[in-house]
Amino acid sequence: MKITHRQNLKNKNLIVFDLDGTLAPSKSTIDKEMNRLLERLLMQKNVAVIGGGKLELFKHQLLNRLKVPKDLLTKLFLFPVTATSFFRYNNGWKNIYTHNLTADQVDRIMSAFTKVFKEIDYKKPEKTYGETIENRGSQITWSALGQDVVKVLGDKGVELKNKWRDKNTPLKLKIAKLLQKYLPDLEVHAAGYTSIDITKKGIDKAYGLKQMEKFLKVKIKNMVFIGDAIFPGGNDYAITKTPVDYFAIKDPEEAKKVIRKILKPA
Ligand SMILES: [Mg+2]
Repeated sequence: MKITHRQNLKNKNLIVFDLDGTLAPSKSTIDKEMNRLLERLLMQKNVAVIGGGKLELFKHQLLNRLKVPKDLLTKLFLFPVTATSFFRYNNGWKNIYTHNLTADQVDRIMSAFTKVFKEIDYKKPEKTYGETIENRGSQITWSALGQDVVKVLGDKGVELKNKWRDKNTPLKLKIAKLLQKYLPDLEVHAAGYTSIDITKKGIDKAYGLKQMEKFLKVKIKNMVFIGDAIFPGGNDYAITKTPVDYFAIKDPEEAKKVIRKILKPA
């Protein structure tokens, strides 16, 4: 576990978690122990969660399993789709903002996919699960095996994704590179194992922390970030450009250790 400490954890006002792979195992849900730890943490701190998925995915991975008193939910802030939207609790989850791609940008992204697939003679896997190109409002995500592969197949889906990644990472990077060439004003991230995200420029987890600073009125240096991909090329790495203190963890079990540490600062 890699840790940076500039300040005592006791003085941190906002604890920020990545969702997928940090609070919950990839595409899966938080467990009972994580639920209990988050409840205790919410009694002491404000908590923000940021992830690439939409609010629906936050519901599936986090909210549906989070059994805490309603007044604690008002201390929890959700930043789906890499903080291009923000939800807070006030008798239900209320959308504070959403920064969508324009219709023209969506059209150009869709055309770019068609063009690139034709250009490299891309053969889709024989079977895909759910949409392969999903418009998440502020982000368009391509998933080689379809959005729902893990939802439909469970562990078998994870296995299929690993297999696809082992075999096709160079292909994925090639697709991403060509897309970027045709969409110079947008940002193409070869994000997950089997997916590519396209957003407006400058949308990353550092952008997310800046949104939190602005909307929650907490300075970035008074936040702590916990994520499973704080390494070059990882989708949490951008936070190292900011003054945030962070814990680079490898899985939810390590994230739990960090929470225990925050609950009882040395
Ligand atoms: Mg993650």
